[in-house]
Amino acid sequence: MAPSYQYWHPEMETLSRPELEAHQLRQLKRMVSNASRTEFYRPRLLEAGIRGEADIRSLADLKRLPFTTKHDLRASFPYGMLCIPLEEVIRLHASSGTTGTPTTIYFNREDIRRWTGFVARSIYSTGCNKTDVFQNMITYGLFTGGLGFHAGGEEVGMLVIPSGSGNTTRQFKFMQDFGTTVVHATPSFLLHVEAKMREEGVNRESIRLKRAFAGAEPYSEDTRRRIEELLRIDVYNSYGLSEMNGPGVAFECQAKNGLHIWEDGYIAEIVHPETLEPVRDGEVGELVLTILCREAMPLLRYRTRDLSAFYTEPCPCGRTHRRLRRITGRTDDMLIINGVNLFPSQIEEVIMAVKEVGNNYLIVVEKEGVLDRLTIKIEVGPTIFMDDTRPLNALRERIRKTLQAAITINARVELLEPGSLPVSEGKATRVLDSRPRDV
Ligand code: ADP
Ligand code: ZN
Repeated sequence: MAPSYQYWHPEMETLSRPELEAHQLRQLKRMVSNASRTEFYRPRLLEAGIRGEADIRSLADLKRLPFTTKHDLRASFPYGMLCIPLEEVIRLHASSGTTGTPTTIYFNREDIRRWTGFVARSIYSTGCNKTDVFQNMITYGLFTGGLGFHAGGEEVGMLVIPSGSGNTTRQFKFMQDFGTTVVHATPSFLLHVEAKMREEGVNRESIRLKRAFAGAEPYSEDTRRRIEELLRIDVYNSYGLSEMNGPGVAFECQAKNGLHIWEDGYIAEIVHPETLEPVRDGEVGELVLTILCREAMPLLRYRTRDLSAFYTEPCPCGRTHRRLRRITGRTDDMLIINGVNLFPSQIEEVIMAVKEVGNNYLIVVEKEGVLDRLTIKIEVGPTIFMDDTRPLNALRERIRKTLQAAITINARVELLEPGSLPVSEGKATRVLDSRPRDV
């Protein structure tokens, strides 16, 4: 389909750099002033020599602000970062708790309205409009992906089906009955949906699906292409986190060349995860975000632990907001296998590029004596017969060698029948690490 590059908020999406920065500075002052009213930030800002917004004169002053971590959010639970009276708060959401106790975020009425605007803008940038039928195949409840996308979809004027995640048979039924044209799901669930479609004999012609928003967990470019080819749809990368409201932080436009971070709502920095100094443009580092569009709960220089880089070249779509490279994982996802650093995404990149590989895999790390043992369990695709040992052995050996060349680790490769690994309806669990913690 030829990209139409339609804008939801034409003025904001195409602001010149100086205009965008002037807007950021105005909002940053406001956020700092709000933050200095919270129990958590007040002493920290004073310590940094910032008494209020008057001390923020340019965007360069951002560097003087303290970083905030997930630990800080947990320590100030429940209301330590709230800066408005509780009676003004109308909603709370929480993180999924992938890396520990979930953290809680609060919104007032305007916050919800602004958040919805960013999600609507993101959805619209992929070419959707009010003629679309949108099936939100993600967990509702405290997780922001449910209500966040739901409200954004309604704002665009689409017909929104709050199907929630799981139950693929029912999902197919909805798609057929209502003529769903776009879905939102995790990439791992989309792969599962495709496998189930084949298994249940659902005819592709019986559904009208054109697009999917896929996010909430890292996935490789090959995984995107695989989903696009198998389901014959366009897949757009959606990035967000509950601390920054949820979805609608950064999103791919129809050029599909990285995710526009909405810079009128967020200030993004990319820093070296240890020195916390900014990296050069284009270099990978930890994404640090300051929210500019929330009144109830400020969050300054939040260390997301997500790894990304800036693309600075202009995007053909004409939007001026910078783009982030696909997030490859979190700093704390890193595995150390016999002294070698390894990200699960490096393994995914290798195996998803092998066409005989199926739609699911699991990385298992164990201790064997004094050594770490890495096993990759991989489901094969429908074209591979498990009884035919020779081609199977050859495939196993080919994957093992490619992995070794890519990650310099000799991993054990186990090939399994399609459907044998556990499927998650939300974020997939890709790593089972049974090594004792203190090692
Ligand atoms: P939790 O931190 O408990 O998983 P959230 O539900 O708020 O809580 O999830 C946000 C996190 O999910 C992000 O910080 C990031 O690690 C991951 N994430 C979200 N979208 C993407 C994406 N498109 N690509 C990679 N990772 C993503
Ligand atoms: Zn673009």
